[in-house]
Amino acid sequence: MSFVVGLTGGIGSGKSAVADLFVERGITIVDTDAIAHALTAQGGAAMPAICAEFGAEMANPEGALDRAAMRALVFADASARKRLEAILHPMIRGESERQLAAGAAAGSPYAILMVPLLVESGDYRKRVQRVAVVDCAEATQIARVMNRNGLVREVIQGILAAQATRAERLAAADDVIDNDGELAALPPQIERLHRHYLALSGHVG
Ligand code: ADP
Repeated sequence: MSFVVGLTGGIGSGKSAVADLFVERGITIVDTDAIAHALTAQGGAAMPAICAEFGAEMANPEGALDRAAMRALVFADASARKRLEAILHPMIRGESERQLAAGAAAGSPYAILMVPLLVESGDYRKRVQRVAVVDCAEATQIARVMNRNGLVREVIQGILAAQATRAERLAAADDVIDNDGELAALPPQIERLHRHYLALSGHVG
């Protein structure tokens, strides 16, 4: 795939809602979070290496990653986080490259690579031609995640504090998608961006 747009935004900003609108326009979406999840699900390709590195107790009886146990371990031990990332990151990268190539083969004129922590990761920015940021106020993010996940405000604020700030994300953006308003405000913005990306990728906009 020769033209890849990195799509990012904080938790609850509306990345999935935006991605759905690109899918409607026939664009391949590669979701790195979904890939990471599949790699660590029951029978996931990363599970043998994770069990070899951290012990079989990191898997639940079904053979999927025990997410609570892993979260506790990497929270307490920064080197454990690094060892986990050393297993997962190359596999996520390999699978996203495979899906991008499949998208190109299927005729998608460009692709969207969804990376929640794109701004926090120098590596991903080198792998995309353009960065699109879904933007909304922190108060909006908190309200949406409280509603979607039933989390309490303090937990969401902790997640936000560990992510790039709104200003940092906006500074990294080539394109900004405003999602502070109603869902109905998204399709016209995505249609405009889609035409822009078609033109930038050498297709008629
Ligand atoms: P992300 O993928 O960035 O975490 P989502 O796309 O899942 O965010 O959106 C978070 C939640 O907010 C979802 O429940 C979604 O349906 C809802 N949502 C997204 N955009 C809007 C909007 N403009 N108005 C109202 N609800 C929205």
